[in-house]
Amino acid sequence: MIEIVEPEIMRDKSIMEKKSGKRVGVVPTMGYLHEGHGALLHEARKENDIVILTIFVNPAQFGPDEDFQRYPRDMERDRKIAAGERVDYIFYPSVDTMYPENFSTYVSVENMTDLLEGEYRPGHFRGVTTVVMKLFQITQPDNAYFGQKDAQQLMVITKMVRDLCIPVTIRRVETVREHDGLAMSSRNVYLSPKERKDAAVLFKSLQTGKDLVQDGETSTEIIIRRIIDIITAIDTIRIDYVEIVDLHTFKKVNRLESGREYCIALAARVGKTRLIDNVFVSS
Ligand code: AMP
Repeated sequence: MIEIVEPEIMRDKSIMEKKSGKRVGVVPTMGYLHEGHGALLHEARKENDIVILTIFVNPAQFGPDEDFQRYPRDMERDRKIAAGERVDYIFYPSVDTMYPENFSTYVSVENMTDLLEGEYRPGHFRGVTTVVMKLFQITQPDNAYFGQKDAQQLMVITKMVRDLCIPVTIRRVETVREHDGLAMSSRNVYLSPKERKDAAVLFKSLQTGKDLVQDGETSTEIIIRRIIDIITAIDTIRIDYVEIVDLHTFKKVNRLESGREYCIALAARVGKTRLIDNVFVSS
């Protein structure tokens, strides 16, 4: 496993690998790896000759009052997990190399970044798409792996790739969960034991939503109301949003139409920790 911090060196290595006929897969992360990241690495390992793991806590996607400074970091542990997943390269640049003085070019995907996470975290997706674009330029991947856990991010990146004709295939990996259904997240480490237990209600409420759709409910208002009622029964949790959107446009809908795919997405604060989760449903 080779560790690289310089973008130019990483790009040269990747170009060299591709010239010798290797397929390159990249897994972009912010580190503090868990089994969700492990699933992405596992898929990448199956489908590529070379696997590049990127670890970069990207300041451009954090708001001024968010947890950039205290975001959990543990490079030693990440190295061991990466080695266990047979990663070929870890690319972990510094903030200064990714955003040198006078950096002034950003990538923004319009429309589908206005609501849900985009509404509650202004500028977040601009930060994500800019850094992912840079990581694609640096690692030159054939395939890039993203989790369904961050469904809006996955769809925004898929749109960016299509709109800008970027020669990479985006691969979706299903959300990996704890035994009680809580989506694995680096931020789960912030939760107190009680909050950790309470947080399981998020997935339970989404499952109830999915069951309602499967039983034929088409009113998004009714489904959303039911999910909100389940979550608000737990006093440590405050909801930011519960929404049902068309999976491909990420626009809100009032009524589910048969044959279409939707995403039931939510964000909530469990104590001080903000968590997101979602399920895909088809009517
Ligand atoms: P992060 O390090 O949180 O920025 O996540 C890096 C990548 O891992 C993103 O594509 C996430 O969607 C994905 N990811 C994070 N948590 C999970 C999970 N529980 N299951 C599957 N993928 C995940």
